[in-house]
Amino acid sequence: MPTPDLHNKRHSASVLTIDLGAVQANYRQLASVAANAECAAVVKADGYGLGAVRVGQALASIGCRTFFTAHLDEAIALRAALPDREIYSFNGLMPGEAETFSEFQISPVLNSLGEIEIWARYCADAETPPPAALHLDTGMSRLGLMPVEVQRLATEPERLGGFSISTIMSHLACSDMPGHPLNAQQRDAFSALTIALPRAKLSLAASSGIFLGPAWHFNMVRPGAGLYGLSPNRENPNPLQQVVNLQGKILSVRDVDTPQTVGYGASRRITEPTRVATVAAGYADGYPRSLGNEGSVRIGNVSVPVIGRVSMDLITLDVSNAPHAGPGDMVELIGPLHDADAVATQAGTIGYEILTRLGHRYHRHYIEGTA
Ligand SMILES: *Cc1c(COP(=O)(O)O)cnc(C)c1O
Repeated sequence: MPTPDLHNKRHSASVLTIDLGAVQANYRQLASVAANAECAAVVKADGYGLGAVRVGQALASIGCRTFFTAHLDEAIALRAALPDREIYSFNGLMPGEAETFSEFQISPVLNSLGEIEIWARYCADAETPPPAALHLDTGMSRLGLMPVEVQRLATEPERLGGFSISTIMSHLACSDMPGHPLNAQQRDAFSALTIALPRAKLSLAASSGIFLGPAWHFNMVRPGAGLYGLSPNRENPNPLQQVVNLQGKILSVRDVDTPQTVGYGASRRITEPTRVATVAAGYADGYPRSLGNEGSVRIGNVSVPVIGRVSMDLITLDVSNAPHAGPGDMVELIGPLHDADAVATQAGTIGYEILTRLGHRYHRHYIEGTA
């Protein structure tokens, strides 16, 4: 018996296609909008669900020098694939981790005076520790040095002695709403706080922030979502290319012509003759359960509704207006005419959540980019 290859989901009924050429095109476009800044790439959560190593290699091959993950483990996994790039881990430095950061040359993003102290103490007798970044909290109340902590650093600069700081960053709360007053407030607070700190690359904007204008670009921008084709804001048409196409296979089609219900909880009652197709994708594959009786998918040119609840591995569709659809045919769950942002709107969430939940049961097909 041959050894099963658990990573190649050859027999998976549904196919997730990831266009690395489109990721590269989006990177180039974001970089050109922020032409005076370096363009880094955020590949946390396994590259927003699309594969951090594949995305990282595709972007490194067109000149991206700096990568951000959330977890240290994500950064370590990327290090093997990108031996000569700068890799940062947003989530900071926990006690006991300094040596691991240094061993893999991962740059910690230091989020508090406590983390700065741990790193400074480690660096005092480390041989070649990587440079660190400082994260300033200008309005998220989440991670980063609070303004009082930044003041302490200004009056006690010896706290930053003995290690190198490559980057000082902050993060915008409302950049997907271009008119929100917090965008300018955070930008001004960031500029003011950095005056008293050592000189380093300054970085404020993520994807949506890039489209706020040059005053938000500073020295480096950090897009994630935009690389993966998500729209920077709802006010303008999406200027970026779609990266993800998710096709689900129809397993079964039945004509229901007697009054009957569909799926768990009998949440949908069929009262007139209806053609029902069952597709091999469910909430365990990241297809949101909230799309039960709410979502739609594309079959060729027609949009067909999800009827009944979303099951763990299956969804049911009313394909009465796509009468030729049969077992083995593919339907488009996410694609050009029904992108991740549109699916998210139907599901009451954001495109980020749709992508990061896609899961690992689909057969993944990568369209290679250019080298
Ligand atoms: C996730 C994240 C980013 C990237 O944000 P996008 O909106 O996906 O472009 C940038 N910076 C920080 C601190 C983040 O947490």
